[in-house]
Amino acid sequence: MGRAFVYVILGGGVSAGYAALEFARRGGYSRGELCIISEEAVAPYERPALSKGYLLPEGAARLPGFHTCVGANDELLTPKWYKEQGIELILGTKIISADVRRKALVTAVGETISYKTLIIATGARALKLEEFGIQGSDAENICYLRNIHDADKLVNAMKSCSGGNAVVIGGGYIGMECAAALVTNKIRVTMVFPEKHCMARLFTPRIAEYYENYYTLKGVTFVKGTVLTSFEKDATGKVTAVILKDGKRLRADMVVVGIGIRANTSLFEGQLVVSMVNDGIKVNGQMQTSESSVYAVGDVAAFPIKLFDGDVRRLEHVDSARRTARHAVSAILEPAKTRDINYLPFFYSRVFTLSWQFYGDNVGEVVHFGEFTNSSPRFGAYWVNKGRITGAFLEGGSREEYEAISVAVGRKAKVTDMAELGKQGLAFAIQESQKQMSETGLAIGEKPTYVWHATAAVVAAVSIAAVGYWYGRKRRRW
Ligand SMILES: Cc1cc2nc3c(=O)[nH]c(=O)nc-3n(C[C@H](O)[C@H](O)[C@H](O)COP(=O)(O)OP(=O)(O)OC[C@H]3O[C@@H](n4cnc5c(N)ncnc54)[C@H](O)[C@@H]3O)c2cc1C
Repeated sequence: MGRAFVYVILGGGVSAGYAALEFARRGGYSRGELCIISEEAVAPYERPALSKGYLLPEGAARLPGFHTCVGANDELLTPKWYKEQGIELILGTKIISADVRRKALVTAVGETISYKTLIIATGARALKLEEFGIQGSDAENICYLRNIHDADKLVNAMKSCSGGNAVVIGGGYIGMECAAALVTNKIRVTMVFPEKHCMARLFTPRIAEYYENYYTLKGVTFVKGTVLTSFEKDATGKVTAVILKDGKRLRADMVVVGIGIRANTSLFEGQLVVSMVNDGIKVNGQMQTSESSVYAVGDVAAFPIKLFDGDVRRLEHVDSARRTARHAVSAILEPAKTRDINYLPFFYSRVFTLSWQFYGDNVGEVVHFGEFTNSSPRFGAYWVNKGRITGAFLEGGSREEYEAISVAVGRKAKVTDMAELGKQGLAFAIQESQKQMSETGLAIGEKPTYVWHATAAVVAAVSIAAVGYWYGRKRRRW
């Protein structure tokens, strides 16, 4: 039993949706030659909505409203769209083995699906507490958040514990965004994480202090520098408390766990070269793996970043998933015309009424700038390495300001005086952006291709507002 396609996209998440749109735009296939295989039961959707609009108590985001590619202000790809485009959606189907030499995939029910060209878009999975030696995370009131199934479980748990207590394990963006959603659902939140401050992989202590103070004003309690060791459960198996390593016992009507992710590479272990540094499937600037008929995109791919002198990175960000997916399709259909990807890493988040963006790499010395105030916050930081800007963070910026910091990072702007950079703050980035405009001869308002990422960032931020416009509505109402 089997089926054969010319192009198979394995995985049905963000990058699968953007790859499908790119195939359709370029018209590089005939009806029935392209398929998406996904373990999920629904067509590709904008995953970031799950921790934002999806969790709102009223007017929450629901499918089909946030299928890809609305997150980039592009077409809404419903199942009908795929049908019209002649792209087969093979949903609710898990691939359990892959043979890249034979160019064949085997599904959980034993069907063989063969391809000429494969795009691996299997993303990542949430790390489970069991992987850290803690048992019992299958209880009905312990939630993870990676897919729509998890999000439904979380929504149900929140509904049954309004006015109660939640413990959030993990201080990364999933923990931070879920904590904000829980508060919005009138649930008291305690966040527990081992680091000294939240978002430890990105935030500086000063930036983290701002968000932690903001959350504290919203009623969130932080327990830092310790980890969960076990759960207390009632006779029905529901968690009633979490026990921490430092001996503390926290009452819990529900628990949300956001302790990181692992790339879904296992199907290809021993067959494709994996990046040793960050456990992704290693690809070149065309998103092509060590096997020429196989490409990898999104969270699962480790690709060279020109801006970081070709350093190979695996990113876990939606913009990277969208861009790498489109790039792979371009490389597959028009290899001679497709240059190596030139990507400026970009990540954003929205919590409560706050919204930030980050570009580049957070290495080097840090200089903060701006107003760290509760009313109209507008602050940020530059990272400077060897006299050049390597990364920039901004909370509360305007479209032009986000564009400006992205330009400063993309140009690796030269810094001669750190104190002066701190004084200038955003003005420094705006000057860089003006220099860029005069060098490229573009008038204000026109975009050099160079600032594409910034534009995408703004579009993404706007579209998160659109995808998760529910937040906006909520903000205006409350
Ligand atoms: C709740 C949440 C909020 C987020 N918010 C933000 C944000 O604010 N900003 C940001 O930049 N990024 C955010 N992200 C990250 C962003 O969503 C990811 O970077 C993006 O989804 C990666 O896309 P992908 O296609 O690589 O993987 P995914 O979107 O995870 O898709 C992978 C797909 O592969 C399928 N799959 C895996 N293995 C198999 C198999 N063996 N057989 C069949 N199918 C398989 C999965 O079921 C899934 O459909 C968020 C992520 C989550 C989970």
